[in-house]
Amino acid sequence: MEKERSEKDLVIEKLVRQLLIEIGEDPDREGLKGTPHRISKMFKEIYRGYDQTKAPKITTFPNGTDGITYDNMVIDQGDFYSQCEHHMKDFFGKYWFAYIPAPEGRILGISKIGRVVDYCSAKLQVQERLSHDIVAMLKEALMKDGAPEPLGIALVMKGRHMCKESRGARKKGIMTTTVIEGAFRDDPIVREEFMHQVGNVTEV
Ligand SMILES: [Zn+2]
Repeated sequence: MEKERSEKDLVIEKLVRQLLIEIGEDPDREGLKGTPHRISKMFKEIYRGYDQTKAPKITTFPNGTDGITYDNMVIDQGDFYSQCEHHMKDFFGKYWFAYIPAPEGRILGISKIGRVVDYCSAKLQVQERLSHDIVAMLKEALMKDGAPEPLGIALVMKGRHMCKESRGARKKGIMTTTVIEGAFRDDPIVREEFMHQVGNVTEV
């Protein structure tokens, strides 16, 4: 049995139905019958970033507890999917996140980085703010309970924007946003090592 639709679900379904009519569609034709309902369900998933109760619990560990104090670069790479706030069109691509834990600081559970990326992406965004949101959330977790700041933190995001590719300019291309702090900003060798990992990626 399907869960009962909330008041909000019904409002969204009604609005989508009206939207279909306004663009010239017949919302009662076979292929569109379930569309308002599917969209209201989909919105819960792709816009869950507005719901703070859905924020991921970010597990961190104190550095130096397993007989090793880690003070090198940790890099996580993955995909992201979001929607631009100007057109509600998809933008998506790849991210590279890196940090250098403070010797007396904390270490992130590696799977949590991707979850934070997903959560911050799950609302209307611009890539610049998305990058900042991700770094801010991960940094806050690393500095929980007064833990010292990581020695460096960096994020590169490369995204394709459908509002630029499938309409408007109709030009394929990649937008790169970067947040660089601490050693990644101040130490050219650290920066170089990270940028080498990112490489010259021109397709995402
Ligand atoms: Zn846009």
